[in-house]
Amino acid sequence: MTAQIISGTEMAKTIRAALAEEVAQLKAVGVEPGLAVVLVGDDPASHSYVKGKQKACAEVGIRSFLYSFPKTVDEETLLAQIRALNADSAVHGILVQLPLPEHIREWSVIETIAPEKDVDGFHPINVGKMMIGQRAFLPCTPHGVVAMVKSAGIDIVGKHVVVIGRSNIVGKPVGQLFLREHATVTYTHSKTNDLAAITRQADILIVAAGKARLIGPEHVKPGAVVIDVGVNRLENGKLCGDVDFEAVKEVAGYITPVPGGVGPMTITMLLHNTIEAARELAAK
Ligand code: NAP
Repeated sequence: MTAQIISGTEMAKTIRAALAEEVAQLKAVGVEPGLAVVLVGDDPASHSYVKGKQKACAEVGIRSFLYSFPKTVDEETLLAQIRALNADSAVHGILVQLPLPEHIREWSVIETIAPEKDVDGFHPINVGKMMIGQRAFLPCTPHGVVAMVKSAGIDIVGKHVVVIGRSNIVGKPVGQLFLREHATVTYTHSKTNDLAAITRQADILIVAAGKARLIGPEHVKPGAVVIDVGVNRLENGKLCGDVDFEAVKEVAGYITPVPGGVGPMTITMLLHNTIEAARELAAK
């Protein structure tokens, strides 16, 4: 049996067509959704992510504004920029591309973003609301993962979801969102004993470790759903996930590719959040 491939690229295309219509409707009533992107330093991966996000904004009709700073920028300059964006009525969403240079406190930057413009869903207020099931901006990658599983027609209720990774931006929230969908959730991380014994129990395995080809067929129960969040650059310059795609697709029931899997859905959820922010701010 070869796994069914869940294409994030295809799903994203369908959702983005619907989002473009929503933007057109908002523009017709005088609201033009705007996303401000703050980029610090010259990391090529960050530059490429930002370019991808701006291109996606343009495709659905969202205005994007780029604020670039050298990696030597001091924290107060960055915070002043964010405060100005909080007050700017043309800006509905604010995204600070992570990671930031070490001398800047990431939490301080995130906490300065107005929660109603925090379209990445990283502000503690949005994280807390998500935890207790209140309406909030959901973090884009975890939201994209759940949306992919649902769009593929996979039933989540009662399923055992195993998450590899416990970061604040992927692992922890993705487990929370599956819990909300009535899955039974197990978290694993770098200190977990006998990872394979746990991952083999998963009906749905979410892999977000950032380790190229960490997961092989020995980690996967036959027929399981395998969602690969990892993005790793190999020495030959190619991108690969955390899952050995060729080997695991012979065991899994469903699998996502890298690239073309979770990545496009992450950006799509960012567009969704920005449109929601514009709608809500315009209604105030
Ligand atoms: P992170 O902050 O480095 O967290 C990695 C997590 O994986 C940690 O919790 C770590 O455990 C765990 N881990 C590392 N090695 C492991 C191992 N051998 N066995 C079990 N667990 C292990 O990374 P992140 O920000 O969550 O991102 C994870 C991956 O997703 C990266 O490749 C990143 O590029 C990718 N990503 C993709 C998207 C997308 O849109 N496609 C978005 C965001 C991130 P400890 O906590 O014990 O250290």
